[in-house]
Amino acid sequence: MFFFDPLWFAIMLPPFIFMIYAQMKVKSAFKKYSKMANSQHITGVEAARKLLQANGLNNVKVEGVKGKLGDHYDPRKKVLRLSPEVANKSSVASLGIVAHEVGHAIQDKTGYAFLRFRTSLVPAASLGSNLGFIFVILGFVIYMFSRDSEFAPMVVLAGIILFAMAVLFSLVTLPVEYNASTRARQMLRSTGMVSVQEYNAASAVLSAAALTYVAAMLQAVAQLFYFVMMFMGMRR
Ligand SMILES: [Zn+2]
Repeated sequence: MFFFDPLWFAIMLPPFIFMIYAQMKVKSAFKKYSKMANSQHITGVEAARKLLQANGLNNVKVEGVKGKLGDHYDPRKKVLRLSPEVANKSSVASLGIVAHEVGHAIQDKTGYAFLRFRTSLVPAASLGSNLGFIFVILGFVIYMFSRDSEFAPMVVLAGIILFAMAVLFSLVTLPVEYNASTRARQMLRSTGMVSVQEYNAASAVLSAAALTYVAAMLQAVAQLFYFVMMFMGMRR
């Protein structure tokens, strides 16, 4: 089975290490800049209301969500959910994260194509990431019992196609996230909510967060690459 395959470890290890690095970077940037109070003493919730209003998004609700760094914008329910540390603190990190989430709300309002595409991919991607694995493993189990089976490669291929949906999702996530952070930086600058020093700090939080999406994409691509290699091996 591929969990014992040295090739699988060799392919998955670099993106895995990169993911650990990215998560450490996010945590340390957030920790550092959530201690840095913003000069205007605006909490995350206040910043969210202000920025939403400035962008004509009064219909978007602001709610709380449990969990550290669980902040997100829900395009289906038009709700911006903020974690306690972001919502209640008047830190520089809060401003960066809130502006990023408002960036998603603006993407939603303006019908930003990549966000629309990503939202439409959610069901297929969540199904594909789980079912894809199951099909691939199932295909290999069949293959172990009967090497001449015509059926086994078909099952693996179905798994690969399913898993590719999750890979596509992780790819589409990149422009969505980078664009939201670009909008966040513009907002923070144009509203004068932050000083130059605070801008750089908020920007550092956003850059670190973006790395985790790159790492997730690399992990998904590496996994798909491995599946395809195994599939090619079956056909030999
Ligand atoms: Zn985002």
